[in-house]
Amino acid sequence: FVQRAETPDGGQELYPWVQLSGHRENFRPGLRPGTVLKLLCPCEADCLRQLTADPLLGEFVPRYFGTVRLEDGTEFLEMQDLLAEFPGCTGLMDCKMGSRTYLESELDSDPKPRRDLYNKMVEVDADAPTADEAAAQAVAKPRYMMWREQLSSTATLAFRIDGLQRLMASGRTHPVDLKRLRSRPEVSDTLAGFLEGRLDLRDAYLARLRKLRAALAPSEFFALREFIGSSLLFVHDQSPGHACVWMIDFGKIRLAPGRLSHTADWLHGNHEDGYLTGLDNLIGLFEDMQFP
Ligand code: ATP
Ligand code: MG
Ligand code: MG
Repeated sequence: FVQRAETPDGGQELYPWVQLSGHRENFRPGLRPGTVLKLLCPCEADCLRQLTADPLLGEFVPRYFGTVRLEDGTEFLEMQDLLAEFPGCTGLMDCKMGSRTYLESELDSDPKPRRDLYNKMVEVDADAPTADEAAAQAVAKPRYMMWREQLSSTATLAFRIDGLQRLMASGRTHPVDLKRLRSRPEVSDTLAGFLEGRLDLRDAYLARLRKLRAALAPSEFFALREFIGSSLLFVHDQSPGHACVWMIDFGKIRLAPGRLSHTADWLHGNHEDGYLTGLDNLIGLFEDMQFP
């Protein structure tokens, strides 16, 4: 869909809304310029409300504007559209953070195996399903998530590139099979492609990531919560140094039984998520990037 942003002179500018992951139907145009609607998950709305007001982390999340009920009865949360400041966006990337992408509670429940997840699995690797899964033509969600973790860099780098688009005047470019991006060199090459050889972008992203690292370290909100399935959204355009990163996707943030380091290895029951390990790896990859 098409979005509206306010320009500095008080006018309005139209730009296409681009969604890198998740279900299409979950997003709608916002009710005012510069916002977007996401299908309501009360957990996520509550988290975003608190984060928006958080003195340390507020500047790293889309601003929360409350909930909205549409005419058909469906409820959405309204938040800042992070693309609004980048109507001429040329690069957009979603990195799913952490070394685990399912909640401990999802492991403990016994979900019904699903046909759609089986299909997604064989699409990538026909040999991946076990004999039982092949016979049932169905795979349980936690098993699917763990398989995807091993396939991607989630298991090794504690983050994975979940979506990436480089937008050119001519349309999309740079198709990469992100699901199988696993090793450090592969991820590094993909990040380098995203940066288009621009040192200005690397420096802008690096400064923002370090600032985020410095804000997360002393944050009580962060220390007390398991951050699962949450992403960093990277956005830039063609102006020199015009790049930013935000935290998004808070549907699986849960209070942990105690404080988390976000760097310790996960053992079932300790709720560690590896979020900071992933962030440190991401920072290291940007630091080590070679520019011609
Ligand atoms: P999943 O849990 O499968 O990742 P989801 O339905 O929870 O999906 P998000 O991950 O929150 O959805 O968002 C999906 C995509 O939508 C992001 O990758 C990003 O491209 C875009 N997006 C989300 N929130 C915003 C925002 N506030 N501003 C701009 N773009 C956004
Ligand atoms: Mg997401
Ligand atoms: Mg989500």
